[in-house]
Amino acid sequence: MTTELTEARLLDIWEAGAGQRPPDRALLLGALADGPDPAVPLANRPLGELNALLLELRERCFGTALPCATDCPRCEEQLDVIVTTSELRALRPSTPVPVGALHLDGREVAYRALTAADLLAVDPDAPDARSALVRRCLVGGGAAGDAVLEAVAERLAALDPGADTAVALACPYCRHSWSAAFDLAGYLWTEVEAYARRLLHEVHQLAREYGWTEAEVLGVSPTRRQYYLEAAAG
Ligand SMILES: [Zn+2]
Repeated sequence: MTTELTEARLLDIWEAGAGQRPPDRALLLGALADGPDPAVPLANRPLGELNALLLELRERCFGTALPCATDCPRCEEQLDVIVTTSELRALRPSTPVPVGALHLDGREVAYRALTAADLLAVDPDAPDARSALVRRCLVGGGAAGDAVLEAVAERLAALDPGADTAVALACPYCRHSWSAAFDLAGYLWTEVEAYARRLLHEVHQLAREYGWTEAEVLGVSPTRRQYYLEAAAG
């Protein structure tokens, strides 16, 4: 079952995500893109899969180009960059969650990819947030020292390449090139928020002008709404 993405649904998601933490918002958005009835909740699937769903949603709602502004870390020039969804797309991980194993000091350590549930369970501002996250990836539990956690942390990207979205950037002024983390869910949420606010403003204007209800305004296509708004403005 695929949920049809309507403007009313987008408003519901925006309202539900207001005041929520970033991983909660990512899950709300991911559920919009989610396809066949999943046996495993989205929160328990690898982050790379959640990101793949968010990319699909972004393409469907707002297209493939993601304009952003950044500063060159070397010459500090301000750059306007267009990131594309294909740059952010990585190999989709196996589901439910890929598992890896490593040998350290004669011991085998099994580990799994990170999930949104892990992000929700760990306070991102805690000083030990990183090791707490990695510890959650250990399969079978048991004590793990810093060396084990570090070795697992190094291997998580290979297990689920889409978990961290990054883009390759180059400065046209000083020729410096670097890789930057791209917050896909945060970017998409900002867009949804802007869309929702614009939509509510249109509802407000048209409701006042014509006495329509919110549902009636949302039942009018964006193109026709634009006409009525212009007509109302005289
Ligand atoms: Zn530069």
